[in-house]
Amino acid sequence: MPASPIQILNDVFGFKSFRSPQQEIVETVLSGRDAFVLMPTGGGKSLCYQVPALCFPGTALVISPLISLMKDQVDALRENGISAACYNSALGEAEARRVLAQLHAGELKLLYVAPERLLSDGFLERIKQLPISLFAIDEAHCVSQWGHDFRPEYAQLGVLREIFPEIPMIALTATADAQTRGDILSRLGLQGATCYCAGFDRPNIRYSVIDKNKPFSQLTGFLSSRKDEAGIVYALSRKRVEEVAKKLCAAGIKAAAYHAGLPDKERHRVQDAFLKDDIKIVVATVAFGMGIDKSNVRFVVHYDMPKSIESYYQETGRAGRDGLPADALLLFGYGDVAVARGLIGNGGNAEQNRIELHKLNCMIGFAEAQTCRRRVLLGYFGDRLEQDCGNCDICESPPERFDATEDAQKALSCVYRVGQRFGVGHVIDVLRGSQNHRIQELKHDQLSTFGIGKQHSQEFWGNLLRQLIHLGYLEQDLANFSVLKLTEGARPLLRGELRLELARPRDTKVVEKKSA
Ligand code: ADP
Ligand code: ZN
Repeated sequence: MPASPIQILNDVFGFKSFRSPQQEIVETVLSGRDAFVLMPTGGGKSLCYQVPALCFPGTALVISPLISLMKDQVDALRENGISAACYNSALGEAEARRVLAQLHAGELKLLYVAPERLLSDGFLERIKQLPISLFAIDEAHCVSQWGHDFRPEYAQLGVLREIFPEIPMIALTATADAQTRGDILSRLGLQGATCYCAGFDRPNIRYSVIDKNKPFSQLTGFLSSRKDEAGIVYALSRKRVEEVAKKLCAAGIKAAAYHAGLPDKERHRVQDAFLKDDIKIVVATVAFGMGIDKSNVRFVVHYDMPKSIESYYQETGRAGRDGLPADALLLFGYGDVAVARGLIGNGGNAEQNRIELHKLNCMIGFAEAQTCRRRVLLGYFGDRLEQDCGNCDICESPPERFDATEDAQKALSCVYRVGQRFGVGHVIDVLRGSQNHRIQELKHDQLSTFGIGKQHSQEFWGNLLRQLIHLGYLEQDLANFSVLKLTEGARPLLRGELRLELARPRDTKVVEKKSA
């Protein structure tokens, strides 16, 4: 009688219980259905296919893009007494033949295959004759151009579903926003798969965002109550990293700079000193952190805004690995947004630029969110939080709310008047009655909504429009230059059947304080 998943977990892997969605995922695969698994690194994705592989008769094929990862996994499985092997270009000819012989003899429970091997030399023909139990596609984001590591040979894995419609398939990844997810599912032919997104929450990290005005004194202010704590300050450019580190040292705060332009020796020195707590603060570019496993990092400060929520999540995730309270602080400035947008325009193809711009806009949406940060963050990854978290700046001091019905109506009717064919910037220009060339050319200065929002700043309208997007009154057509469109939900608001309360945009608070 075949062993049950829990028996295998206990006896083979030596773990007491499944982590929350692992069991459901295993059951889905065992019942012959497809699954899509989105879990952060370290969340425990491997067991989701390894346990079913041991429950099923036959061999499970695991498609994995990185030879080194494959080898680690196979070594770990063998240590647990499981017969597993790799089939990739690192194998010598004799070894490759031996692996194939084992495969044909039914001696392997799991075979890790590189995609180019899977798709060449009649390998697919070969496995048609064999009892394959399941396909696991690891690092599935490589299938999609929306992901950060697109691999053309991965894009061809859709053939698996065509050739083997009966064999359950499980795709796994740690990074995927909504677009990437949709793309993975359609390219792999997994539209019917059950999706599991979980484990992204890091409850001990407190997220805060402040408007960046005097960043260096904002940073030292933050650090002043955190003496003797270890932390990382991320900045975007090497130049800024060096400048901030130098100023911190001059201010009597011991900090070191780290970026890819420094000599290897210096980088290793900084890294070691940080790990040993000899240096408490490292000012760094994103080059710092890969593979750094330091559990007592108490804070991560973003001196500049990261270019995507994926990066932000990964970088802030280096704080509080020990489970103790940790802080993630983002300094958010509109200047940075402009710089980041400018950088995207340079080089790359149009499709790639569009994707990067979308990711940047999601990051801005997070920074501007007027609702629980954790909800926005987890929502991005498709992971849900039932309640506000109580451990972010918004939860701790909720923004003031105001009756935004009239302003929202103005904004929505302006979107409508410009034919639902323009993005945020243009709609704001029309609302505020800007006299620019484009507006004149389009005759948008003759629209009834031209200038009806003069009394508010550009930031006010930007913020209001984004809240309307977050709340589902407007949507941005991502396939079409992010033009704004009304949703069904906008109608009752436009017809005056609904009143709307929104969070007061932060910049107007400042404006009002001054004028009062
Ligand atoms: P991922 O592939 O999602 O990055 P892994 O599958 O490598 O994560 O798992 C991360 C770590 O968590 C591994 O050390 C693994 O042994 C451990 N782990 C996974 N599931 C469990 C579990 N149910 N109980 C205990 N440890 C687990
Ligand atoms: Zn919160």
